[in-house]
Order: sequence, then C-alpha cells, then structure tokens
Amino acid sequence: MNKSYYITTAIFYASAIPHIGNVYEGILADAIARFKKLEGYDVNFQTGTDEHGQKIQLKAEEQGITPQSYVDEIAIEIATIFDSVNVDYTKFMKTTDPYHKAQVQKIYTKLFEQGDIYKGHYEGHYCIPCESFFTETQLEDGKCPDCGKDVVEQKEEAYFLKLSKYQERLVNYIKDNPEFIQPESRKNEMLNNFLANELPDLCVSRSSFDWGVELPFDKEHVSYVWIDALSNYITGIGFDLDGNHSEEFNKYWPADVHMIGKDILRFHTIYWPIMLMALDIELPKQIFGHPWILTGSEKMSKSKGNLIYTDDLIKYFGIDATRYYVLHEIPYSQDGTLTYELFIERFNSDLANTLGNLVNRTISMINKYFGGEVRKPNEQTELDQELIDACEAALGRVTESMNVLKVGDSIEEIIKLLRRANKYIDETQPWVLGKDEAQFDRLSTVLYNLIETIRVSAVLLQAYMPDTAANILKQINTDVNTFESIKEFGGYVSGVTLDKPTPLFNRIKASEKLEEIENDI
Ligand SMILES: [Zn+2]
Repeated sequence: MNKSYYITTAIFYASAIPHIGNVYEGILADAIARFKKLEGYDVNFQTGTDEHGQKIQLKAEEQGITPQSYVDEIAIEIATIFDSVNVDYTKFMKTTDPYHKAQVQKIYTKLFEQGDIYKGHYEGHYCIPCESFFTETQLEDGKCPDCGKDVVEQKEEAYFLKLSKYQERLVNYIKDNPEFIQPESRKNEMLNNFLANELPDLCVSRSSFDWGVELPFDKEHVSYVWIDALSNYITGIGFDLDGNHSEEFNKYWPADVHMIGKDILRFHTIYWPIMLMALDIELPKQIFGHPWILTGSEKMSKSKGNLIYTDDLIKYFGIDATRYYVLHEIPYSQDGTLTYELFIERFNSDLANTLGNLVNRTISMINKYFGGEVRKPNEQTELDQELIDACEAALGRVTESMNVLKVGDSIEEIIKLLRRANKYIDETQPWVLGKDEAQFDRLSTVLYNLIETIRVSAVLLQAYMPDTAANILKQINTDVNTFESIKEFGGYVSGVTLDKPTPLFNRIKASEKLEEIENDI
C-alpha cells in the first residue's frame, strides 16, 4: 500500500466570491497535492465551504432566499473557480452536509457532558460582517479592527469552551513538536502573543440567530463558528465520534498539513488542537500559515476596492500563468505582491522567454536540421556534463524545497534549470554546428540534451502548471513523465519525430495589455 498524504485548505466562508488572494490557498495546496501524487503518495486533498452563521442568514434574507439555497449557490461558484484553475481536490466539503452536522452535534454533546462546555453569557462589541466580538480596547476608533465597519452592542446567553484547561498541554505540545506550526515565525507569534497569558474561554454557541447546527442539549442555541467549521477536517473523511470511522479516516488522519491563511492561524493552532485534545483525537502533523497576496502594498479587501479576481487573471494571462505567478511570487513567510505590471514582467521573462523560447527554439532546430527527428546522443563533452548534472540534481533540489513547503523556491529550481539550458544553447551554438555537415553528430547530441532537459523540466512542472507540462510533453512526443524517469539523464527515447512547435506563451506587450485591462474596468 502506498503511503498516504492528507492536505486541506481552510473552508471558505460562503458569504462572497473569493478573490485571487483566497484562491491562492487552493492553488498552493493543489501544487503540493500533485507533487505528492507524483512522488507516489495516495493523496487526499480536501477543501470546501463554511456555510453557517449570522452573516449568511442576513445575506439570504436580503435576497429573499433560504440560507441553504444561498450557500449552495456560492459553493458551486467557489468549486467552479477552483476547477477553472485546475485545483484538483478530492472532496469539496460543505458544513451543511447532514453527516457533518450530525457529528458536530455529537461533538458538542460530548464536550458538554464531560464539562468542557458550560453556559454563560456573552457581552461585547460585535461586528456582523466579521462575526466577531471585540473588547473595548480592541476597537479602533470605536469600529471593527478587522474591517473598519461599525460594531453593535450585543449581549446574549451563550455556551463557552474552557480553553485554559488544556493550555499547558498545548504549549508543551507546540514546544515538543517544532514542525507543528510553520513557518517558524508564526509559532513564536502564537506562543508569545496568545499563549503567554491564560486563554479566555471561547464562545461556541449563539442564540440570537438560528442558521447553525442546533445544540442537542439546548435547542435555543446553534453552533457558533469554530467547533462546526474546524471539525470539517475530520468529518469530511468520515470521522465518527462513536468510533465507527470510515476507512478514509483511519488511512488519512492525522492530516499532514492544514494549509491556511496566516490570519486564522490562532484558531487552527489553539482552538483546533484543544478541541482535538478534549475529544482525545490525534493532532494534525502541521499547520501552515501562508502569507497574503498584496496589491501594491495593501492587503486585498473589498472595502479598499483593490480586489483582483481569478477569472480576470485567467482571461488576461491564462490558467497556468496565473498558477505560476502566485506559486512563484508569493514567498514562504512574507507577503507577496500582485499587480498587473509585475504579472506582465514575470510572464515575459520566465514564461515567454526562459521556458517558451527554449522549447520553441529547440523543436524548431530539430525540424530545421533533422527533419524533426530527435537523434540519439553521441559522445558527451565536459560542457554537456554540466547540463546533465543540473538535470540529475533538479528533482532532489525541487523535492527539498517542497518538503518544507517552500513552493516558490521549488519552482525557481525548475526555472534555473531552464536558464541553464538557454545558456547551453549560447555555449554550444547549434546554428554554427548546423552550417557544417561534419558537425552533425555533435549537433544531434546538443539537441538531444536540450530535449531531455526540457522533458525533465516538464515532468517537474506537472505539479505546478499541469496543462503546460502536458503540452510540452506532447510537443516533444514523449509519455515518459514519472519522477523515477528523471533521476538519471537520458530517459527520453530518441528516434521519434517532432512536429513544428506551437508557442507556449506569447510575449505580452505591456502597454497594450494594460490598456485592455484598463478598458475593462
Ligand atoms: Zn469587521
């Protein structure tokens, strides 16, 4: 049996269509999931929607439809966006799913019966859009510190989860398991900012609205956010509180990675592990808080009017360029920047020039000099050996970065290999060799080496840019596409014939493209 790998994204709050800053998370998790599959793992990749809460109830009322119809529509739209960028999830989880709701009820009951949940009442400044209570000191100019909107005074009966009971155990766990919270800087943030003082109890129910999971022991109350939302990671693969777990749960839990935005790290590294400890369930192996995509220097937000949507990027640049940009440009722990200007620059330099030109030039030369036939290589020189070494090292380098989820660095390794191949063309000057028939043996070796380097790159690119990788492999007429096949140079089978190349990425004229975008807005 293959080794298993379980990766999740956060579930998206089904109140609005996500922008590229949110969709990034899906693309990131997808690249990791695809990479793991290529490594031979049985991968389960779960995403979905968080579908309860007051904000959704209010939005549905505004539109005169039921909350269920409202979230069903949004869930379809979100799934469609993911499909549009080839995010190949195993399961799209909805928290209105009946199995999930039944398990959430069992979880509440167990926590209540063992005394971890108690009834009290909540009082505070409440931001409806953010669904969060704030204390007086947290407010900024009397308004919500997260979205800047007005808050309302709210007091109501509510149930609370005793977090402090498990606090010491959690702190020890985080210290004993240095990989649990990544990147490292975020771990320190959690330990120093949130876990240094006694944790306040967590409000886990509401009684002023009813769009939530009804609490079995108090029907005046519905679930409030976290117990409902977070437990999707286990219910989605068939966890059962009574122990009748599905095969999937036994196989995939504990999760290898929960991929989440850094802004919800606290909920995933404090509330979620405490819930699991209280339920006596093993903790996930890692919580990874990815950085944000900024436009210019600001976080994307509706109120700032600087949102960039995935379908626009696809329309202007294509699916794989969009995937490439966000995967390559958003650093591991610091925020990355997305503007149309930067996008065009990166598109032209990496995709049109470094990758596109290399493939195009190489296939063109094979057509020009050998009628499209890729001949077998002859004696390899010292110069060739440098390229061969770079190819044979590529998988190891890419894997090393992927193992620590440095996805941007891992793609950069592929770009480096492509740059090396372009340099090899300058060094070997095949157009000079092509003028002299006595040099044709040498020329066929050079071209074979280039085609094999392109194949190695395409095999690696399958995780990040699946369509482009498939296109390249088709153009170089090979189906040898496994990781195993690129460990040693020479996996490409010579003797096949190539058609004329079709360009992968056409260079963009920045002024024209920016004008087109401007006219659309
Ligand atoms: Zn707010």
